[in-house]
Amino acid sequence: MPAMPAPVLAPRRRTRKIKVGDVYVGGDAPISVQSMCTTKTHDVNATLQQIAELTASGCDIVRVACPTQDDADALAPIARKSNIPVIADIHFQPKYVFAAIEAGCAAVRVNPGNIKRFDDQVKEIAQAAKDHGTSIRIGVNAGSLDKRLLDKYGKPTAEALVESAVWEASLFEEHDFHDFKISVKHNDPVVMVRAYEMLSERGDWPLHLGVTEAGPAFQGTIKSATAFGALLAQGIGDTIRVSLSAPPVEEVKVGIQILQALNLRPRKLEIVSCPSCGRAQVDVYELAEKVTAGLEGMEVPLRVAVMGCVVNGPGEAREADLGVASGNGKGQIFVKGEVIKTVPESQIVETLIEEAMKIAETMEPV
Ligand code: SF4
Repeated sequence: MPAMPAPVLAPRRRTRKIKVGDVYVGGDAPISVQSMCTTKTHDVNATLQQIAELTASGCDIVRVACPTQDDADALAPIARKSNIPVIADIHFQPKYVFAAIEAGCAAVRVNPGNIKRFDDQVKEIAQAAKDHGTSIRIGVNAGSLDKRLLDKYGKPTAEALVESAVWEASLFEEHDFHDFKISVKHNDPVVMVRAYEMLSERGDWPLHLGVTEAGPAFQGTIKSATAFGALLAQGIGDTIRVSLSAPPVEEVKVGIQILQALNLRPRKLEIVSCPSCGRAQVDVYELAEKVTAGLEGMEVPLRVAVMGCVVNGPGEAREADLGVASGNGKGQIFVKGEVIKTVPESQIVETLIEEAMKIAETMEPV
């Protein structure tokens, strides 16, 4: 019998489906995870190396910066050799929009707020993109909002971000170009969530979620998880990018975890570990860390419970595929709800890893 689909908090809001290279975004397409290279784009080898690392970590779509002609010249070999679609990120210089399209990038991110006379150039951009099958992201950002809207609203409010996005979308649509997605990023999750909620009521555009400049890894993870969670729980969002002041692979890991937590992606390895408390009879932190490290990269939906005592231990361990309920310096090892053995604390980690490998062999990767 086929497995029941995991429950989600809300049905996906139906958006128009577009293509970014060979990845669909919007409609019924799975929510994709994006990141952005931190290498100099003109360093083709370093950029391709980072793209390979991102691809291995599960990144679906990658973006590269294009601030100079040397970077624009590097786009063609990068787009050709990358195993995932490459988006060129263009600010200030419209000539690089055309260069990126010509170079075979899967998509181009344009920031209407900082491209001079952007409105006058939409027609040519739309035509070039259409000719090459390139999609566009209209990337509105609080830090570089159109001056006209800043004057009107006084600061980058949710309303200002949405007005900018809707205006630029209407320009592309006037030229019969519809292969675009939109982002309205702000560093304040509350403003950002409001902006996306408002935007999602204004059209069926696929939406790229992002909290811009979210901060270092810990703060950025919390801000992104909170904001994306609030939106994804309403069915809003078709592709996500977590922005962290940390290596981009970390952004991908966080993005994937957010989607898995909401059942918007099949869960792979899941460690259910207790926070420990005065009743703990083993070092739960160390156990959980060692088991997580030992099973990193596991591609099967394995649930492992690491519990510090007999209060919730046997219950959680029974519910998981594999678990340990600890007590008196020993661990009762559960497999599929049954106690298979009791081992001393010093052998809990190796026993769990050994048993996890055996169970994993019987499971299909997700
Ligand atoms: Fe405390 Fe036991 Fe609960 Fe862990 S399982 S938090 S040790 S009561």
